[in-house]
Amino acid sequence: MGGVSREDALRLMAVHAHPDDESSKGAATMARYVDEGVDVLVVTCTGGERGSILNPALQGREDIEANIAEIREAEMRHAREILGVRQEWLGFVDSGLPEGDPLPPLPEGCFGLQPVEVAAERLVARIRAFRPHVITTYDENGGYPHPDHIMCHQISMAAFAAAADSDAYPDAGDPWQPLKLYYDVGWSRERMMALHAAMTKCGLESPYEEVMQRWSESEDKRREPKITTQVPCADWFERRDAALMAHATQVDPDGWFFKVPLAVQRDAWPTEDFELVQSLVETTLPEDDLFAGVREKVST
Ligand SMILES: [Zn+2]
Repeated sequence: MGGVSREDALRLMAVHAHPDDESSKGAATMARYVDEGVDVLVVTCTGGERGSILNPALQGREDIEANIAEIREAEMRHAREILGVRQEWLGFVDSGLPEGDPLPPLPEGCFGLQPVEVAAERLVARIRAFRPHVITTYDENGGYPHPDHIMCHQISMAAFAAAADSDAYPDAGDPWQPLKLYYDVGWSRERMMALHAAMTKCGLESPYEEVMQRWSESEDKRREPKITTQVPCADWFERRDAALMAHATQVDPDGWFFKVPLAVQRDAWPTEDFELVQSLVETTLPEDDLFAGVREKVST
């Protein structure tokens, strides 16, 4: 592609609920596209103010708990530098993950309680300003059922539909038509089984046994994601992990996520996976590039 100007650069927008989500879903793909000259913008819906501290070494520290919003902002800055992406905040407040039976109500004013049409306007404004060709977001279950992840899905769908409509949100900038919309497929049964088999074959203890067990027991009504697109990005796994580690309060460095050696991952499942849900360009499935069908259009 050579030197591309702002006008003809390919642009990818990844919409995420909290700081750290961008590093656990599609991060190696983003790092690869950045290295290939794609302009990548992460939009983070909330500040992650209600995230639990998951790193045992940092739990119970009052100085962290008292300043969690600032700390998560700094962690995000570090992660985005590692990935080489741009990043913007939508400015909503984390809903927290409600726990208990019955579930407690969501805290007043949080992202999960916003009316979708109102909250979508901020994302429409970002889309019209950045003019992405491709947008990634979560599926209708949010990847996992966190109210902010589900709301992230809802405003992404609404904004994708409205961004090119000049009658919608007239104060949010000039209309722009994004061409493709994908769901992140972080964990599929196939991927987990492949990694599990690879670990077992190497004589290593697989951290997935328990996860797969829980998975089959809690067999809920959720549909299996449909993988349409697998982006080869094994050479960027290390950067993905470094970005995830930058969210130091949110990850357990000894957790199951880091238990599988990168060599095993590269060998057993060298891609990150996505589900194409809307496309205004012609493409043939399965794909190995989020810009399949877009590159041709942008360069002509
Ligand atoms: Zn999240």
